Amino acid sequence: MDKRQLFSKLPSVDEILGNSKIVNIISEYPRDLVIEGIREAIDINRKSIVNLKENINAFDVSIDNIVNDVINRVRIKYELSLKKVINATGVVIHTNLGRSLLSQSIKNEVLNTAFRYSNLEYDIDKGKRGSRYSHLTETIKRITNAEDVLVVNNNAAAVLLVLSTLAKDKEAIVSRGELVEVGGSFRIPSIMELSGAKLVEVGATNKTHLNDYEEAINEETAILMKVHTSNYKILGFTESVEIKELKKLGEKYNLPVIEDLGSGTFIDLSKYGLSYEPTVLDSLKNGADIVTFSGDKMLGGPQAGIIVGKKEYIDKMKKNQLTRALRVDKLTICALEATFRMYLDEEKAINEIPTLKMLTYKISELDQKAKSLYDKIIDKNIDANVFIEDGLSQVGGGSMPLETIQTKVIAIAPKNMSVSSLEEKLRLSDSHIIARIYDNKYILDVRTIFEEEFEIIANELKKALN
Ligand SMILES: *Cc1c(COP(=O)(O)O)cnc(C)c1O
Repeated sequence: MDKRQLFSKLPSVDEILGNSKIVNIISEYPRDLVIEGIREAIDINRKSIVNLKENINAFDVSIDNIVNDVINRVRIKYELSLKKVINATGVVIHTNLGRSLLSQSIKNEVLNTAFRYSNLEYDIDKGKRGSRYSHLTETIKRITNAEDVLVVNNNAAAVLLVLSTLAKDKEAIVSRGELVEVGGSFRIPSIMELSGAKLVEVGATNKTHLNDYEEAINEETAILMKVHTSNYKILGFTESVEIKELKKLGEKYNLPVIEDLGSGTFIDLSKYGLSYEPTVLDSLKNGADIVTFSGDKMLGGPQAGIIVGKKEYIDKMKKNQLTRALRVDKLTICALEATFRMYLDEEKAINEIPTLKMLTYKISELDQKAKSLYDKIIDKNIDANVFIEDGLSQVGGGSMPLETIQTKVIAIAPKNMSVSSLEEKLRLSDSHIIARIYDNKYILDVRTIFEEEFEIIANELKKALN
């Protein structure tokens, strides 16, 4: 057989369309996608024939072969781009993998809001139009003891709204040591500029004193701002001004004190062996007039930016036209209210909010998880050496940058494959396992892996290695 004969044996688009398996998938998937898949499959075969050097007789141009290829292509084309992955990195608030996960215990509330009508902007008692923000006010006020609350799309938006409302065309004083960049796209100086506020930097990178702020105050000053340096720490010869002191200065000159906490915790996690982080309650208690923080970092809720503090300032923000542009969706409102409600009982919050649960595992629990995953992997008799080892997890999400938490990992050393190709195979597998390589071993940190994912991981390992 020569190449010309092979080309003539290739089935046509119409022939493939007539195949019973293809007829079946056309009832399930859009016809245009199927036709696109057929064209691609034929094209690939044509190119392969052109490039054939030997074994021409062995080349398979059977319709079955092409049909299976088409079905595969159509399935992949129709898959959502945003898909489930398995986070085996041990980074709990993983910025690239969806940050915080919602608690399973609020599933019904979220589904109801998504699939049924709700009183989103309706006051049931009065039978009149209501406000979408009212749903969050009571619960968040109860938990934070703040005078008022406003929630927007994310914390970057919260900071933008605060600055635009309170410091537009005026000056905002910030310490040089706190001009942070978070995640590449959020920079305090850029947000300032966008809001129309003029940034006045005071102090030096490592040290800022109260009188640095005081000397910068003039009739143009609108706010004193403190920013939590979420993702870095300055060590050594350092000094910064606490909210308590800024508050005194604010009172003396009648200026609001703003704190951007970034992560925003409600539970002092030092009780659970992590280092102390200022909580939202501490910040308010120490005198911040306005505090901003994210919904999907340490709080463990949906993406949102939460603004709490003095009613007089939040009232002004509610009237700012930007609020409409930054407003939150009903699914966010629902998930956020339900997440906050869990904080009424600290133990419930710790046990049922995934971010908190994962951060506060006892080493004995991690050991248990590691043994269970290890057994499932060993059962598959895979072509690799498998160990349970000690490791270090991270908080992530620009929170507690220096914190490393003792963990247990499964370390895998493949026998007949490089570690990097194992990593690639598992990442590209249907289960999309995302893990680290360390010391030439494939590392699965059990902290961020769900138990129902253990069997899936064992099966994928078997598939990849054998
Ligand atoms: C993370 C962070 C932000 C941005 O919050 P998003 O919710 O990602 O918009 C702002 N400020 C600080 C200090 C942060 O840590």
